[in-house]
Amino acid sequence: MELVETIVGARDRTRDLLRRGSVGFVPTMGALHAGHMSLVAASRKNCRATAVSIFVNPLQFGPSEDLQRYPRTIDADLGLLRDAGVDFVFAPSVDEMERAANGTFVEPGPVARRWEGERRPGHFRGVATVVLKLLQIIPATDAYFGQKDFQQWRVVQTMVEDLQVPVQLHMGPTVRESDGLAMSSRNRYLSPSDRSKALGLSRALANARQASQRGVCATEQLEQILRETLAEHRVDAIDYAVVVDRSDLEPLIQVDRPAVMLLAARVGTTRLLDNGLLPQHAEVGHEH
Ligand code: AMP
Repeated sequence: MELVETIVGARDRTRDLLRRGSVGFVPTMGALHAGHMSLVAASRKNCRATAVSIFVNPLQFGPSEDLQRYPRTIDADLGLLRDAGVDFVFAPSVDEMERAANGTFVEPGPVARRWEGERRPGHFRGVATVVLKLLQIIPATDAYFGQKDFQQWRVVQTMVEDLQVPVQLHMGPTVRESDGLAMSSRNRYLSPSDRSKALGLSRALANARQASQRGVCATEQLEQILRETLAEHRVDAIDYAVVVDRSDLEPLIQVDRPAVMLLAARVGTTRLLDNGLLPQHAEVGHEH
């Protein structure tokens, strides 16, 4: 496995690999866990070669966010990626990535407006800009993203569609700890008491999903279940707990089309996200 730190090097390496067939690309911010590694495994399975980037992107952090304290575990990350059979890792410095910075950005569309977009102004602009830039540097045939960050997935999907980026996108399911907590690089900030509060997110999704399967299709009722479960687990603050259209992420009255439950809550000083897909409700779907 090669460690590449320059843009020119990453582009050359990708071109070499493309001569032999498909190249899968997994962009990350490092501090790798089984969630990231599941995307690497999916790429390894589908593509001839696999590239992974590790770059903590300053553009997607707000001024009061955790850019400085974001976990950095490059040696452990490289060990995991080597064992997984990755062909090369692109780990540029901030200087290398921001050498040219003349003020050009990718402004995502309406799908970025609500939820994370509202709480973190500029976040998705930073994500979309760096993802497009990474795809220019590593012009892979395929790229892999996690469902864990569902709104980010939709932002990337719509950007690729709108800007005709020639890459096939794939979404990997959220990988969880055995008790249900969605894996996240930020979970290492959780104290033992935070950790049990954090379980509220996956439990809330499970309770609302069960209610939906029992026939509840009013989003107001499902959202109440989400909020109640989070409150029972004593999360410190709920940013949002909503059931929305899976495509445009706009609020829904009823689950009369494919939907997604989106959660963001604060536990201690850590902000946690989780989400769960809800199929279109059968009865509602058949109503006229
Ligand atoms: P990050 O390093 O947090 O920027 O994440 C890099 C990629 O890994 C993104 O596409 C995330 O959605 C994905 N990812 C993060 N956590 C998980 C998880 N628990 N399961 C699946 N994918 C994940």
